Amino acid sequence: MTLPTPTGFALIDAHLITNTPHHAGATALLVEHGRITAVGDDTEIEALALAAGYPVRNAGGATVTPGLFDSHTHPHWAADVTRGVDLGGLGTVADLQAAVAAYAATLPDDAWVLGWNLEFEPFEATGVRGDLFDDAVAGRPFAAMFYDLHSGLANAAALTAAGVTAAPVFEDMSEVVVDASGALTGELREPSAYQLVFNAVPARSHEAERDALRDMFRTLAAAGLTGGAIMDGKPRTVDLIEELEQRGELDHRLVVHHWHAVTDDDAAVARVIAAKDRRGRLWESDGIKLFSDGVIDTGTAWLHQPDTCGDGVHAFWPDWNRYREVVRAYHDAGMIIATHAVGDFAVNRVLDAYAELPAHAAARVHSIEHLEVLADEDLEKLTGSGVTASMQPLHMQWREGDDSDNWAVRLGERAATGYRVRDVLNTGTRVTLGSDWPVAHYDPRIGMAWARGRSTPGVAGAPVFEPDQRLTGEEALLAYTLWPALARGHEDRGIIAPGALADLTLWSGDPVAASADELATLPIAATVVDGRFVYDAF
Ligand SMILES: [Zn+2]
Repeated sequence: MTLPTPTGFALIDAHLITNTPHHAGATALLVEHGRITAVGDDTEIEALALAAGYPVRNAGGATVTPGLFDSHTHPHWAADVTRGVDLGGLGTVADLQAAVAAYAATLPDDAWVLGWNLEFEPFEATGVRGDLFDDAVAGRPFAAMFYDLHSGLANAAALTAAGVTAAPVFEDMSEVVVDASGALTGELREPSAYQLVFNAVPARSHEAERDALRDMFRTLAAAGLTGGAIMDGKPRTVDLIEELEQRGELDHRLVVHHWHAVTDDDAAVARVIAAKDRRGRLWESDGIKLFSDGVIDTGTAWLHQPDTCGDGVHAFWPDWNRYREVVRAYHDAGMIIATHAVGDFAVNRVLDAYAELPAHAAARVHSIEHLEVLADEDLEKLTGSGVTASMQPLHMQWREGDDSDNWAVRLGERAATGYRVRDVLNTGTRVTLGSDWPVAHYDPRIGMAWARGRSTPGVAGAPVFEPDQRLTGEEALLAYTLWPALARGHEDRGIIAPGALADLTLWSGDPVAASADELATLPIAATVVDGRFVYDAF
């Protein structure tokens, strides 16, 4: 098997945002063999291209930025969760039934009918009930996920196929919902409940799983993304990425962080470390992802003080020393460590654990993921820590302006210490932005718009959360381009300069000059990865 031969092209009549102090006023660039080899004016770049026999594309004044990189994403999981029909934006049960019926008609008689992106509003009158879809799927098993990934829906055929005949008792907050008569409604709350059903769905063929991952990367490219850090890497994820690249079908630049489960023993750690040098042209797999705590909404974030329900006082780890021990092992192996820390105390403890790691030649800059709430003392500890803060301000989309949402209720007054992106930046800490897709939408324009406006983009009068924490347009772009590159020690990424990798995002307008509202819907003209147009809407 061979990789497609990388060639070259020139892009002229472009507005370049280079993320460097050089090439002010440059309007053109030359790409050869996956790298930018020249930046200059139209005449000189066109001449270089013609001399080399490369095509010249006129960008028509489009803005070109370094390619956008999502610093926290789960595309493999997303490719699984988004199986079946997209039910987003359908406002009534009748609309949902029609969409499900149309999709079901394309499937074999014995197939499960799957869907995703359900919203709650259509069920206000009926309640969330699986039997609403029995006719639409002609008696076949039907299971669908709600957009928030916290709830699922199944009909009786699916519940039966999964062996769910009564409501089990879960140790966590999960619930198989029953009605007043004790009958299963089909509503499945939280992962332990909906996984009972989704685990019973017949596995996809290898080819179908691989192609779904390929298509997922192409979907991300259409939103301007050229790469991302996968935060739930499994050996299978790496296998599929490698296979896609060998087939010439990998259109995304990736860093895979292997998922370390709290229960993983020394042998598991050794296996991950042994595989850390697996890499390809577009990907590397030397990252690790660990959890230190959970999330605010379920009372599992680790906080300095308990939340208003008395929760939030525990780490994920029965023994915190085990966390320190495995972090040390991965660090000594030269891996880059990302630790999920939502609560302020979790951030504090992870900073302590990182601070005790020895400096050595292979040592990497580690990150903390989320940092959803921070006390002033945590900001002090971030100062000079050298750690990367990987944050997702778009997760504020679930907050309510009157603090009536579960997140704000549990935090009480501390809700005002949420998503302190500006404060973190002011400590001198490097900030990177990401989506956590499929937890939130992958679109980097929406991610940047939230970081800038701290409000739902495009909605007049929408509440603005802690406006003093807003980023500028330039900072939001840097946090999706140059800053994640520097955080990983890549000096040839996140910039437009001779020698840099040719990962580029082409915009119909200027994403920095556009308002946050405009940015969210600013059309992407093209996406270039490794010198190839992987999305092209010119
Ligand atoms: Zn995540």
